[in-house]
Amino acid sequence: MTAQDLPAWLPLSVFVWIVQMVAYHGFGLWFEWLDRTGRLADYKMRPVDPKTYAQVLPRVLANQVLFLLPAMMLVEKAGLAFVGPAHISPLMFVVGLIGMTVGHDLVQYVSHAWILHRPTLMRSLGHSVHHSVTASRSISACFMSPADFIMEIAAPYLLPLIAITAIGSAGADLTFHVFAVTAGAFGGLYEHSGYDFSAKLAKSDNAFLRFVGSRISSKAHAEHHSRGNVSFSDGFGSSNICDTVFQTRWDLVKPRERQRRSAQQQEA
Ligand SMILES: [Zn+2]
Ligand SMILES: [Zn+2]
Repeated sequence: MTAQDLPAWLPLSVFVWIVQMVAYHGFGLWFEWLDRTGRLADYKMRPVDPKTYAQVLPRVLANQVLFLLPAMMLVEKAGLAFVGPAHISPLMFVVGLIGMTVGHDLVQYVSHAWILHRPTLMRSLGHSVHHSVTASRSISACFMSPADFIMEIAAPYLLPLIAITAIGSAGADLTFHVFAVTAGAFGGLYEHSGYDFSAKLAKSDNAFLRFVGSRISSKAHAEHHSRGNVSFSDGFGSSNICDTVFQTRWDLVKPRERQRRSAQQQEA
């Protein structure tokens, strides 16, 4: 199946949005089922968020329907993305995925760390809404104010997509788009689920298994929700380049504070 097989009334952007919704709410229901049945309880790191599924869902759906869908359609109408070749080469596929990961990290970090977390803007742009959840109910990943959703979800997805489309990646390639939105949805939901599937690998004696564990850990975003001033990148699936460059990664902040304290003690 290619984008050309879609019926005329169904633009590619809308189809990809539907795939995204199925992935997001499918994974969301799976995590909810885990919470309710206690399956995989060994991997649940925190008590489930006090805000219920029913309390979180309306705001999430409003963001997805009122902001994400029109933004995606607009980008297609403007000829900036969801347009171009029906199939891209394997090289362009890889280039596109790298571009999306790095670009997402960049846009999301600037929005999140430098704008949304500014003390003067925290309330006016409404990032405090997202911080009213504890990252322990997966669908709360998109429980956000409209401004927050546009800056942290829609823009970090669409701006890199526009950039890679301009250099000949993504195009109208269904496989690429479906993969990108499904992986993105899973990453966001997992980070906010309260589950950490690396819990056992992290304790392994085997260095390789510990490395695999570090790649699938959801700890970074959990630390962001609990400490507020660390790990602004999307932890899972993100390149985390910005958190590393700007030294805001949760595992880097502690030594930095310790260093500062010992420096102060030396001065005194
Ligand atoms: Zn935040
Ligand atoms: Zn969050």
